[in-house]
Formats: sequence, C-alpha cells, structure tokens
Amino acid sequence: MLHAKPRAGLRARALPVLLMSAVVAAFGGLFALAPVEADRPAVLAYADVAPLVLDEPATQERAQARASRDRRMDEQARALAVAQAKAAAAAKAKAAADAAAKAKAAAEAKAKAAAAAKAKAKRATASRGALRISGRCPVPNASFTDTYGAARSGGRSHKGTDLLAPYGSPVYAVADGRIRDAYSSNGGISLYLDADNGETYFYAHNSANVVKAGRVQAGQLIARVGSTGNAGGTNHVHFEREVGGRSINPYSFLRGIC
Ligand SMILES: [Zn+2]
Repeated sequence: MLHAKPRAGLRARALPVLLMSAVVAAFGGLFALAPVEADRPAVLAYADVAPLVLDEPATQERAQARASRDRRMDEQARALAVAQAKAAAAAKAKAAADAAAKAKAAAEAKAKAAAAAKAKAKRATASRGALRISGRCPVPNASFTDTYGAARSGGRSHKGTDLLAPYGSPVYAVADGRIRDAYSSNGGISLYLDADNGETYFYAHNSANVVKAGRVQAGQLIARVGSTGNAGGTNHVHFEREVGGRSINPYSFLRGIC
C-alpha cells in the first residue's frame, strides 16, 4: 500500500501532466499546421469574398446616394430652369408692360400737348373774338396802310395808323373804357381811351369829340372824322395804340378788327 500509494500517487500526478502534454502537443500540432492550411483560405476568403460581401451594401448605398443626389440635382436644375424661365417671362412681361406704359404716357403727353395747343388756339381765337365783340373798328370802311415809323416833320416818326374816311364819319370806341379828351397843335381835337383791357388808344385830328370824358362801351360813338391839327387837310383819324405805356404799331390790330 505504501509502495502502491506512491506509484498510484505518481501515476495520479503524471496523468494530468501527460494529458496536458497531449493537449499541448495536439494544439501545438494544430498551431504548427493550421497557419499554413487555415490562413490561406482565410486570406483568400477575406480578399475574394469578404470585400464583396462587405462592400456590396456600401456600394449600393453609395450608388443609391449618388442616384438620390443626382435626382436632387436634376430636380434642382429643373426647378432652376423653371424659375429662370419664369423670371425671363416675368422680365419680358415687365418690359412689355413698361413699353406699353411708356407708349401710353407718350400718347397721353402728346394728347395733352395737342389739347393744350388746341385750348391755346381756342383762347387766342376767343381773345380775338372777344376783341372783335368788345373791341370795334374805330372807323369802319376807312382806308389805311401801315405807315408806322414813317418820317414826320421835326424829326418825328409816325407812331400810329392813319384811317382815312370822309369828313364827319362816325368814330367809335375800340373797347370798353374811359375817355379823356385832349387838344394839341399836332393832334388837334383828340381823345384818349383808357380801355379796361389795360391798353390806351389815341384818336387825333377829329372834327369833334362826341364824348369828352367818362365811361364808354366798345362800339359807342365818341367822335367825328376831321382834319384838325397837322392833318394837312386830309380827313382821317390818326390812331395810336399803347400797351403798358409803350407805343405799339396798331396796324395788324386794326386789320384784325376792321
Ligand atoms: Zn397819323
């Protein structure tokens, strides 16, 4: 028992060692052989299969992402094109509207100018008409020429129009106003008519003044034709027109009202 015990004890102690050795040997063998046999397929598997298996979803994702991005870009491009077309159409419409507005404004301005010109012409006509109505020819049927500025005795120049008419012919007020009678060696029996229109008319060489002072109306008889003063024996009315105190050639005015 004493001998057996150590033997048994030896065997009992040796058994695990043997087992461990066997296991180590087995693993050692495995490790010694396995790298050569097992690593190659593993590497091949990794190189040939794993990249495909691992990368395929990533590629698909990238492709999908690219496709998605391309779609987005296409959509953006289309949206941009639509927006640009819209903007171009709007600009075109605005330009057309601006042109139309400009043309309209020009037409309106033209019409306005035409209306203003028409109104002005109408006013001028009305003014002439008013003069004709309220202003009357001082000596109807008189003969006269434009001799304004012609030389006269003593270095004077002729400041009026001579209306030639038979002695005693009626002389009328040209416009509404006020009469002041006058007398001078040159003018003889004369009249001033301070008209309401601001102008002053002078009648000279009368044979008589019918009205010597006060208000008269256009067309009212105020004097008679004669040859007093320096008329040189020719029966006529020396007629002057003053505007703002300045002598103006009355010829065209008289042509307008006689
Ligand atoms: Zn004269």
